Amino acid sequence: MVAAGLMSGAATGSASAQTSAKQLFGAQKLPANLQSRAIGSYAKGCQAGAVALPVDGPAWQAMRLSRNRNWGQPVLIDFLEKLAVDARAHDGWNGLLVGDIAQPRGGPMITGHASHQIGLDADIWLRPMPEQRFDMKERETVSAISMLKNGTRSVDPNKFTSAQFRLIKRAASTPGVARIFVHPGIKKALCDMAGNDRAWLQQVRPWYGHYYHFHVRLACPPGNPGCKDQAPPPAGDGCGKELAWWLSDEPWTPKKPDPNKPPVKKHVMTLADLPDACQAVIAAGPTPGASVASAAVGSAPYVPIEDDAPVAALPKPRPLVN
Ligand SMILES: [Zn+2]
Repeated sequence: MVAAGLMSGAATGSASAQTSAKQLFGAQKLPANLQSRAIGSYAKGCQAGAVALPVDGPAWQAMRLSRNRNWGQPVLIDFLEKLAVDARAHDGWNGLLVGDIAQPRGGPMITGHASHQIGLDADIWLRPMPEQRFDMKERETVSAISMLKNGTRSVDPNKFTSAQFRLIKRAASTPGVARIFVHPGIKKALCDMAGNDRAWLQQVRPWYGHYYHFHVRLACPPGNPGCKDQAPPPAGDGCGKELAWWLSDEPWTPKKPDPNKPPVKKHVMTLADLPDACQAVIAAGPTPGASVASAAVGSAPYVPIEDDAPVAALPKPRPLVN
């Protein structure tokens, strides 16, 4: 009996091992009923025992519910809830509009994001939360707001104010936060506004996109075997040479393809490419009592908006981390 059970388990594993991982994980509606754990690395992994960010809280609203991406590791959901409440109490920030976190079992997604795979990444809109609650439809359609002056790499000071500054500073100063990604223009504004208290700026890294929202990445929580941290960001506040490069034309000028290089064949990530533990995450039953926030799951067309502007045409100076 035991042998047969093992064999059928192995057979199931290999049958799905070649399936495109984004199809497989994108089809999961509910979290895996396993001990909570982030597995693998931010852009190649999955999550067990995810919990949902409640659609509404005292100081937050979850957006784009049809994507069913309001799932994360408990440590991240706790972080978001506390950040929301603290920012409202101390920073003049009414509340968080939270965008994509991760799929119920993490993993790669059919649309958007290379990372957000292990339940430790979250996108937070830079648009202040209004006093009123959005209804389900509004959560799909209300747009985030760009912080940039039209057609420039600089923030619009009427949109990016000291309130956003305080919010990002609070997030970056929280223990356990590994990195925060923002547009270079926002990083520049933070550098200019920071004054003498600058240690937190080390966590805030410039990247493409990220002018409608900022992206918070937590470090692997203790007791998560197989969760792979990124190397810590370089020392210093990051307001010097690297930022100057980001604000130059170079990162934004598409490179001409090299005619001597054969075109790179795109590898489709399969379950076999992910850590082995992700097979158990796919095979596990759903967490009892867990439910999907929106009945419209999968039915709303994905609009590649603000949160994940395509950067395919741009050179990639560093491994894609957002
Ligand atoms: Zn993100």
